[in-house]
Amino acid sequence: MKRRQFLVWVASGVAVSACAPSTTASPVSSVSPVVSALPEAAAPPAVEAVSVDPPGGALSNVIDRQRVIDRFTGVAPSQWGTHLPGVATHVDGGALALTFDGCGGGSGSGVDHALLDLLAREQIPATFFLNRRWIDTHPALTTQLSESPLFTIENHGTTHAPLSVNGRSAYGIAGTASVAAAVDEVLGNHYRIEELTGRTPQWFRAGTAHYDDVAVQVVAELGLGVAGFAVNGDAGATFHANQVRNALVQAQPGSIVLMHLNHPGSGVAEGVAAAVPALRASGTHFTTL
Ligand SMILES: [Zn+2]
Repeated sequence: MKRRQFLVWVASGVAVSACAPSTTASPVSSVSPVVSALPEAAAPPAVEAVSVDPPGGALSNVIDRQRVIDRFTGVAPSQWGTHLPGVATHVDGGALALTFDGCGGGSGSGVDHALLDLLAREQIPATFFLNRRWIDTHPALTTQLSESPLFTIENHGTTHAPLSVNGRSAYGIAGTASVAAAVDEVLGNHYRIEELTGRTPQWFRAGTAHYDDVAVQVVAELGLGVAGFAVNGDAGATFHANQVRNALVQAQPGSIVLMHLNHPGSGVAEGVAAAVPALRASGTHFTTL
C-alpha cells in the first residue's frame, strides 16, 4: 500500500496541539515558536454511545474489531505524544500535503468557506480530517466535499479523544481508556465516512493528534495509516495570516502540514492565500495523503 512508504519518524519533540482547550497550559517547545491553543475544545468531549457498525453492502471492507482488541489488550504503552514511530509526518515526492482538521463539538463545528473556496479556485489538493461531530453537523457538505477530485476525506475520530489504551489525556482532554475504546474511536467515524462518501478512509488522525505507542499499532492493525504532521501550520487556528503564511513558505518539501477548516475568521484562509503564490513561484506542488 502506497502510504506504507510514507512513514517517517521525526523525533523532533516539537509538541504542538492540533486541538486543545484554550484554558489549559500548553507545552511549548524550546525549538518552536508555535504556541498551541484551540478554542473549540473548551471542555472534554462528552462520552457518547455511537454506532461502530459497518454500513454493510458490498462497499465495506469490514474490519475484525474483536481480533484487534484481543491482540493488544494487556499491552502496556511506553510512549506518548504527537511524533511517535509509525506516525507519518512526510509524503514522498516533495509536494506539500496540506491537511485541514474539522474537529467538531461546540465552537469547533464551523466551516471556513473562504478557505474551501480558495482551495477550489486555486485547484489545491487537500486532505480533510473530519471528526464525526463535525460530519454529523454537516453531512451534506461532507458528501459534497468528497465528490471533488481535489479533496480527500479522512478520519479525525468519533469523539475527538486522544488515542490511548489507558486513558491518558492531552491538553485536559481525556484519551480513550482501553484498546476497545481506541478501536471504537476509529471505527465509529470510519464507517460513517464510508457511508456518506462511498469511499473507505485510509488515514486516521486522533483528536489533539496525540497517541500512545500501542494505539498507533492498533490503528495500523485496523489497516489505516496514522497521520501526524511535520508542520503545525495554524497552531489550532490561532495563528494570524502572516504566521500561517510563514509556516507554509518555510515548510520543507514533503511535509504534512496541519491546519484547520472549522474556524472561519481565523488566519488560515488568508494565510494560505498569501503563501500560494510564493510556493508556486518556488516550484512547490500540493498533494493529498
Ligand atoms: Zn481536531
